[in-house]
Amino acid sequence: MKILVDVHTHTIASGHAYSTITENMQAASRKGIQLVAMTDHTPGIPGSTQRYFFDNLRILPNEMFGTGLLKGAETNIISYEGEIDLPEETLEKLDIVLASFHPPCIDFAEEQIVTEGLIKVMENPYVNVIGHPGDKRFPLDFEKVVLASKRTGTLLEVNNASLKPGSFRPGVRESLIEMLGYCKAHEVPIVLGSDAHYHEEIGEFKEAIELLESIDFPEHLVLNTMPDKLLHHIKQKRLK
Ligand SMILES: [Zn+2]
Ligand SMILES: [Zn+2]
Repeated sequence: MKILVDVHTHTIASGHAYSTITENMQAASRKGIQLVAMTDHTPGIPGSTQRYFFDNLRILPNEMFGTGLLKGAETNIISYEGEIDLPEETLEKLDIVLASFHPPCIDFAEEQIVTEGLIKVMENPYVNVIGHPGDKRFPLDFEKVVLASKRTGTLLEVNNASLKPGSFRPGVRESLIEMLGYCKAHEVPIVLGSDAHYHEEIGEFKEAIELLESIDFPEHLVLNTMPDKLLHHIKQKRLK
């Protein structure tokens, strides 16, 4: 499986990541990655940047070192009413928006509440990808979530960093196997993200690919292998 896109990467602007956008894009180019989404943490994460950083992303080029750049954000889900922590005026300027559960930004809750809250987020026309689903502290009814992914066009991520040994997200592997089973059964595409916090991690998907191969997950549902199809999928959601 040849992965050509990384939809989830951080720069020093996130506050706990260690490379610049220039270093990230150089690394991506060297590794043959054709398209990278820059998705820094939004204001809810301690030490991250503020809204104006995202408003100003347009000054960056659309391509660096021959690799395409999508200007995005990894927003925080801040309530089970489906709220995220960037205003619509900022979201509409971005090429790609991720939304994730991060413990400092929202309390843990039971499965039904988390599932219904996440589906409300997926209905937000600006949210393209749900970052690292499968953290057992935020339990999900995966069949409902996968069907919402299909209906809304919001992609579910297989997050490589969460699958690495020593990951701080409990129960991820087991949850992802369940999620991917429903994706396969209902023909719902997914995306992989490295969640790189250092440039050498960009485009590294060893653990995610091993997981996909272990369950014979169909390659045509992995949008990172088809940059044009992925871009089309993202644009289509905005048009809905
Ligand atoms: Zn995250
Ligand atoms: Zn991240």
